[in-house]
Amino acid sequence: MSIEKLLISSCLMGENVKYNGKNNLIDLAQLREQYELIPFCPEVAGGLPTPRLPSEIVSFTPLKLINNKGKDVTHNFIIGAKKTVNLVKKEGITKALLKANSPSCSSAFVYDGSFERQLVKGKGITTLFLREIGVEVFDENSNFWL
Ligand code: SF4
Repeated sequence: MSIEKLLISSCLMGENVKYNGKNNLIDLAQLREQYELIPFCPEVAGGLPTPRLPSEIVSFTPLKLINNKGKDVTHNFIIGAKKTVNLVKKEGITKALLKANSPSCSSAFVYDGSFERQLVKGKGITTLFLREIGVEVFDENSNFWL
């Protein structure tokens, strides 16, 4: 019997793809027992370099993201989200474990666009795209696998 696939933020798997060139590695032991982990980073997939300047969502309608130098990076985030959707469709993935508080991956809170470390309720762009097609998205604080 094949094991269920789980999309996971690459940085949670220990890949150094964060904006600052680091990662957000979590304990993967129990997850690996239950799922085949499929790592993906929407921001890298969207063409952004690593390391890169941090970005925040300044508006959902219309959608706009900028980096902390004011450059519009909306296009990169949309490309990354679309590539994530393509991947989950191809792999038959219905569940995702994505990094909290990220403008791409968050499922509950995002920074408010002021670059003052202020969190507000909101979801990352990739999470919004994934939920549109019915993918369940959790973050690492949910411990849904325990
Ligand atoms: S976009 Fe997602 S996977 Fe990539 S570094 Fe940010 S939180 Fe991690």
